Amino acid sequence: MIKDDCIFCKIIKGDIPSRTLYEDDSYKVIMDIEPADKGHALILPKDHYADLYEIPEDLAAGATKLAKKLITEFTTKLNCDGYNILQNNKEAAGQTVSHYHVHLIPRYADGQKLFRYEHLKLTSEEMDEIEGKIKK
Ligand code: AMP
Ligand code: ZN
Repeated sequence: MIKDDCIFCKIIKGDIPSRTLYEDDSYKVIMDIEPADKGHALILPKDHYADLYEIPEDLAAGATKLAKKLITEFTTKLNCDGYNILQNNKEAAGQTVSHYHVHLIPRYADGQKLFRYEHLKLTSEEMDEIEGKIKK
């Protein structure tokens, strides 16, 4: 399942070149073209699904299993100190390519600290209201 106007589908087909680190029947793992840190990689399922809302559960689970395997191996090879696993869904969350993908971002003790955000100070009433909406 390929989408003609999708840049990651074109990479998967080989129409656009990429630095491919790993490939199997279901996934291609490439180097991010604008890395957040040295060794930033992307896991791309070969079938086109826009995001976590759309992708079948087992394919998302397989990407997580692959992430675990790869970061274990890459941590030794890159001699990095940790990893951020990032997965954006929809524009509001920063997704720029609408083909499900998992970012593997190596982090270095002396490197920049990404993914910091301003913590909101919500009142207890506001927290109650949100909890009431999403609690199962
Ligand atoms: P996101 O913002 O979560 O949708 O992530 C999209 C990622 O794809 C960004 O980190 C881009 O740098 C990366 N990217 C876009 N085009 C390419 C490309 N041709 N090859 C490799 N990575 C790409
Ligand atoms: Zn695609």
